[in-house]
Amino acid sequence: MEQWQKDLKASIHDVETLEKELGVPADSVRDIVDKYPMRITPHVLAQIKENGDALWKQVVPSPEEETSDAACEMEDPLHEEKDSPVPNLVHRYPDRVLLFVTNQCPIYCRFCTRKRFVGSPGTLTPENLKQVVNYIQEHKEIRDIILSGGDPLMVVDFLLERVLKALREIDHLEIIRIGTRVPGSLPSRITEELCTLLKKYHPLYMNLHFNHPSEITPEVAKACGMLADAGIPLGSQTVLMEGINDDPETMKTLMKKLLAIRVKPYYIYQADLVQGTAHFRTRVEKGLKIISALRGHISGMAVPHYVIDAPQGGGKVAILPQETLLYIDDDEVIVKNYEEKLFKYPQPKPTEKEAEESPLTLYMAPHQDSD
Ligand SMILES: *Cc1c(COP(=O)(O)O)cnc(C)c1O
Ligand code: SF4
Repeated sequence: MEQWQKDLKASIHDVETLEKELGVPADSVRDIVDKYPMRITPHVLAQIKENGDALWKQVVPSPEEETSDAACEMEDPLHEEKDSPVPNLVHRYPDRVLLFVTNQCPIYCRFCTRKRFVGSPGTLTPENLKQVVNYIQEHKEIRDIILSGGDPLMVVDFLLERVLKALREIDHLEIIRIGTRVPGSLPSRITEELCTLLKKYHPLYMNLHFNHPSEITPEVAKACGMLADAGIPLGSQTVLMEGINDDPETMKTLMKKLLAIRVKPYYIYQADLVQGTAHFRTRVEKGLKIISALRGHISGMAVPHYVIDAPQGGGKVAILPQETLLYIDDDEVIVKNYEEKLFKYPQPKPTEKEAEESPLTLYMAPHQDSD
């Protein structure tokens, strides 16, 4: 058994161990864990410093998962099952698809969008993989695939390689991405052997998942460094959550720390309308405030897009604070910078064609004179 498999085995899965390790009464969460599995790796357990801190809230089951906001919550809020042409594949956007490789994860995040199936048995079968490959072969417009789940790095190397190899045989598939929470929660999985394997399938990108600065430990930094050294561009996705990271200072620290370990922040997600996750959701104004606090104040490289993954399969919609473009006409644009100062940008004259194609739009109220 490899070290990462030993670490998985030593993780907290049952309520008795949870009670022993963290003092949560076993009976208070027994039903919840029956419904939504738990896994807390030794690495994550070691980062939990006190009851209710940012890591605790993400991985320790809570009775609040039983109180659902029936008015808006759904089992499958993004309608992934409706957008699935063959089992385990979601095809929503024109040129890219999402593939569920396994239902297993290194930890079971209590806020997960795929709470409906993560942790249940299930990994892509060879027949299923064949169907997926056939579908992509027939759809020449697909040039990007995201391996997801569950967590694709939970499968052993030779199974992962089987998937990568089959996908690389599709000529029109340009890039492969892996979405994973493994480097941040089970860093021992990132071995030299895995990096050597992944390197063979470039261009390969990875999007990691981090929600709080306390997740960035020396072990995690080392794992990310190994992946980056294997030539894999690393991005990060963060879910905005009540009492975990819903203030500008925490987000700023997280984004800067990510860049320092060679991970480029990619998305901050507004929390999805998943059944049993109401206690994690924040108002959108909080996200807007955070983005305003990041943009211009820290490296542009460290500023992700803030998105709402629109319910019912609408896809990701980037949300920007509206007030940056104050005015536009034939001659000029007035913008507001991060210090709330106004600036004029003179425009080149529109060509006849441009003037016809896009009638100029006036945004917001008429501006005050900026000079
Ligand atoms: C998020 C997502 C993608 C990838 O979107 P990008 O904005 O390109 O990162 C693709 N398909 C589905 C179904 C998704 O949810
Ligand atoms: S690792 Fe990702 S897929 Fe797995 S439980 Fe966490 S958020 Fe869900």
